[in-house]
Amino acid sequence: MTSISQEQQATSDESFQAELRAWLAANVTDEFREKRTMTFQEKVAVRRAWQKKLFEAGWIGIGWPREYGGRGASLMQETIYNEEMARAQAPSTANVIGLNMVGPTILAVGTAEQKARYLPKILSAEEIWCQGFSEPNAGSDVASLQTRAVREGDHFVVNGQKVWTSYGYVADFCILLVRTDFEAPKHKGLSYLIVDMKSPGVSAKPLVQMTGEAEFAELFFENVKVPVANLVGELNKGWMVAITTLMHERGGLSFSIIVTFEQRLQALIELSRSSTLNGKPVLEDPQVRQRLARLYTDVKTFKLNTMSQMSTVSQGHLPGPEGSLLKLQWSELNQRLVELAFELEGPFSSLAPDSVDAPFEGRWQYEYLRARGNTIEAGTSEVQRNIVAERVLGLPHA
Ligand SMILES: Cc1cc2nc3c(=O)[nH]c(=O)nc-3n(C[C@H](O)[C@H](O)[C@H](O)COP(=O)(O)OP(=O)(O)OC[C@H]3O[C@@H](n4cnc5c(N)ncnc54)[C@H](O)[C@@H]3O)c2cc1C
Repeated sequence: MTSISQEQQATSDESFQAELRAWLAANVTDEFREKRTMTFQEKVAVRRAWQKKLFEAGWIGIGWPREYGGRGASLMQETIYNEEMARAQAPSTANVIGLNMVGPTILAVGTAEQKARYLPKILSAEEIWCQGFSEPNAGSDVASLQTRAVREGDHFVVNGQKVWTSYGYVADFCILLVRTDFEAPKHKGLSYLIVDMKSPGVSAKPLVQMTGEAEFAELFFENVKVPVANLVGELNKGWMVAITTLMHERGGLSFSIIVTFEQRLQALIELSRSSTLNGKPVLEDPQVRQRLARLYTDVKTFKLNTMSQMSTVSQGHLPGPEGSLLKLQWSELNQRLVELAFELEGPFSSLAPDSVDAPFEGRWQYEYLRARGNTIEAGTSEVQRNIVAERVLGLPHA
């Protein structure tokens, strides 16, 4: 009996793979390819169009419940999905925060109304989300934040400022962490709100990064009215909801990063094949071969660690502090990966990403500069090491 059902499962996994592979072959077209010269808003528009196409065909939210527009598929099929996306060099989706952080948080602690209202539009990319946690004086120690929300009748009135908000000026909604009890210890006075970015009193000012791109923003809230129905979880218990989001950011996000790594590794191998050193293909250089082999091993190890974490999540558990190990691993691995590409380009690597002479339209120059932020965003490497030391290894508090 068991072996028959396993056989049936394998057959359905195979047909899932064949169906997806055929769909990708027919639908990954140049109109969904971003160009280096595009502005961030133009890139988001391309990503949105691609995600809409995935949604209409039922190829997004693979593990999400069917009632909210997902596919309700198994972890095995999610894994197959990732592999096929990498194999097809599939474009990026638009709603990275919505898909990887907001959706899983609302699924875990949201009300039935919040699930029905927000989840399908996260999948279709009709509504893009941002995460308003960090403030000018609250980054690693985010619980010390000062943005305030005071209840007045059936809504809260929010005042304050956020910073480094990715997608902040293109987003439709924000998950906003605010202080609602001003007397309680810092972790006990926070609440977690959903804020419509079109509400009167919300303004967003783009911040330009060293890549030259404005991917994130400063957000300002001046007497912004937020309905009480937009509270996620309980009043003053927002810290636990925020931890749920952060654990998904550190652990769950790793699952989708595997696709990027597989694609990037492939591009790096092609770069080594096409570059020359002393008249020979650089791929023949023993040191380069060793570094590529090491990166290949690291990507595969990262993938296995992520699978182990996802297996825990698929059994209904939170990602857990072990997600910090994954966050450390992917951020530092990505920096090593793009550093090798940078070295292989030799003197060309010093050209600005938008220079006409920059190889591959300045792709590696851009990636090199962007990767510096990897060990800061979603919590710095120092903070991840503290979490691993104290909460995974059980070492004494520093
Ligand atoms: C590309 C990018 C995207 C981002 N997107 C978002 C977003 O969408 N939403 C959002 O809310 N935030 C976002 N952030 C902000 C990010 O979460 C913070 O920058 C990060 O948490 C660090 O906070 P901070 O910048 O205030 O640095 P600080 O907390 O001031 O840290 C400064 C330095 O001190 C170290 N340090 C701090 N505390 C400790 C400690 N206890 N032990 C050892 N060392 C310590 C840090 O590691 C760091 O090196 C983004 C950041 C980047 C770079």
